[in-house]
Amino acid sequence: MKLERTKQDYGTNPLKVRDTNHYQAEYIQSFVEKWDELIDWDGRAQSEGDFFIRLLEEHGARKVLDVATGTGFHSVQLLRAGFEVTSADGNPVMLAKAFENARRREKILRTVQADWRWLNRDVHDYYDAVICLGNSFTHLHDENDRRKALAEFYATLRHDGILILDQRNYDAILDHQIPPTHNYYYCGENVRAQPEHVDDTLARFRYEFPGDHVFHLNMFPLRKNYTRRLLHEVGFQRVTTYGDFKETYRDDEPDFFIHVAEKS
Ligand code: SAM
Repeated sequence: MKLERTKQDYGTNPLKVRDTNHYQAEYIQSFVEKWDELIDWDGRAQSEGDFFIRLLEEHGARKVLDVATGTGFHSVQLLRAGFEVTSADGNPVMLAKAFENARRREKILRTVQADWRWLNRDVHDYYDAVICLGNSFTHLHDENDRRKALAEFYATLRHDGILILDQRNYDAILDHQIPPTHNYYYCGENVRAQPEHVDDTLARFRYEFPGDHVFHLNMFPLRKNYTRRLLHEVGFQRVTTYGDFKETYRDDEPDFFIHVAEKS
């Protein structure tokens, strides 16, 4: 019988865990079950409004690949708005949860288990848009992995396709030690999400849920201009960066940046 792990395993020195593959060990069943308390679908839908739908429509996108499906929030929102969506994620526990969440909302997800670094091995189609949302790209700890993943996203886009990729405002955290206010993305009321350790190559966040359930994520703190540079370097022609769903922002204000990278 396979035993299901209920605790994340970071070994004896959690600050040493800076490995791209570790996301598989971080999103264990017990954490995935809690994830929707953290993001609170209704609150998130309210704060995002139709931001992503408008962006996709402005770019004439219809067929969308959600590469970081997680528990399915954006895939379901986009299906409801009439887009054709394929939902990918490298983590099977997340994908199963997404499928179940969608079914409860009377939607059937078309899912593909795929690691971004080898995306085109498992996804054999072209898309108008690739979305990588919810601070997911931060899971890549190695620059080669980041370049490889972006190249794979680029390759699955049609000639005029767009990539929408978001990230936490790590500049604010690294430079001013400002704790994120988590107003926009993580809306769950009884959940605390806080950085426990931050240095140039690691942001370790602690997620505390009612009932003393504590989980962590070890992520790479992406600086905004670094991400923009990588997007240009893999071939995207234009990159527009929004702060918390607005085009104008003071650099230290937003919780999140959203990059829209255009292929042509
Ligand atoms: N987009 C969702 C949201 O906003 O709620 C999920 C965000 S969650 C922070 C990050 C997701 O990225 C997880 O579902 C994880 O399995 C996935 N992920 C992380 N690294 C990955 C990789 N190398 N390839 C594929 N998926 C990956």
